[in-house]
Amino acid sequence: MTLWTLSEEEREGLFDFVQRLVRTPSLPGDEKAVADLVLDEMERLGFDDVQRDEAGNVFGTAGTAEGPLLLLDSHLDTVEPANPRAWTVDPWSGIVRDGRLYGLGSCDMKSGLAATVYGIAHLMRSGIPLRGRAMVAAVVLEEPAEGTGTRLLFELNALRPDWVVIAEPSALNVIRAQRGHLEMTLDVQGRSAHSAAPHLGKNAIYEAARVIFGLELLEEQLPTHPFLGRGVLAVTDISAQAVSRNAIPYRCHLFIDRRLTVGETEALALSEVQRVIAREGVEAEVRIVEEQVRTYTGHTHTARRASPPWLFDETHPLIRATVQAARAVGLRPQVGRWDFATEGAYTAGQLQIPTVGFGPGDPALAHTVDESVELEEVAKAAAVYAALAAALLK
Ligand SMILES: [Zn+2]
Repeated sequence: MTLWTLSEEEREGLFDFVQRLVRTPSLPGDEKAVADLVLDEMERLGFDDVQRDEAGNVFGTAGTAEGPLLLLDSHLDTVEPANPRAWTVDPWSGIVRDGRLYGLGSCDMKSGLAATVYGIAHLMRSGIPLRGRAMVAAVVLEEPAEGTGTRLLFELNALRPDWVVIAEPSALNVIRAQRGHLEMTLDVQGRSAHSAAPHLGKNAIYEAARVIFGLELLEEQLPTHPFLGRGVLAVTDISAQAVSRNAIPYRCHLFIDRRLTVGETEALALSEVQRVIAREGVEAEVRIVEEQVRTYTGHTHTARRASPPWLFDETHPLIRATVQAARAVGLRPQVGRWDFATEGAYTAGQLQIPTVGFGPGDPALAHTVDESVELEEVAKAAAVYAALAAALLK
């Protein structure tokens, strides 16, 4: 037992809240019902300034407006259930067996979200005076467009936190780095002709094949960082256009997924692809994907699919404070990195705000069949959030 350990009543409230969140579907663009639950729970627990913004993000605060701002950031949405027929439980059952809660989003990341709400509620009940504010926020559309919900949260509400905690699953380890992510499209131009006389045209598929081979060679030469790992490039989609199946395709369209390690930038990644195009003498253009997203409130936004890598030193004050908060509740966390993307892409990658990842649940269970989380871990995460907020805001 520590000052931060949740009472029996708080634990029951927390576990019940996770269960209700899991039982409420929240596919991207359809998060309203789950957002309503979060608003109600924050109001019931006595958060200040509980709000929903124009984009449908929800948030509440504790503490005083003077002083620094700590943001505890989660997302409201889940992916579609992976391979629904393979699930042995209903993905929306929220069933509890042997101390584990099962269901879509149980690990990624309704348990982390619930733990931030109960962690900060616990801190409020402790009566410790705070210098500054802790804000618990849950944002929209993380799964299809990481960073977008938090960008809208900051822009629509004129927020600029001093620290950010991303409550995605980390198995209660402390995360200090993440690779960057670029989505690129490549349009290859050919020339249409009757397929009975292909020499009169230029086959865009053949042209694209040369570029693809060049990209495969490029991928082998991408740099490695000792902590963050390798840069990665993968061609993940291809389509072609022709006036008919008896015609030479005049255009071919590729999709490239690129993960950036330390030292790699968007400009560098684009120029590498441009060099392949030039070397192969192909008429083609590469660009970063920009897509319109629409939130459940009807707000639209153009999401640019590019975020830099981020990495904070092990000795960074926020990383240290998180390790200490975890130790204060009896944990022995490792300090590591995430391989997947999170809202940290925006807060740390784009804005360089000190950001740390910490949450309940095994990250390997995110987006899997029979996703689950150990409830004891969720209660421990809540205690760590309370301890960390107290340490940063005292
Ligand atoms: Zn997630």
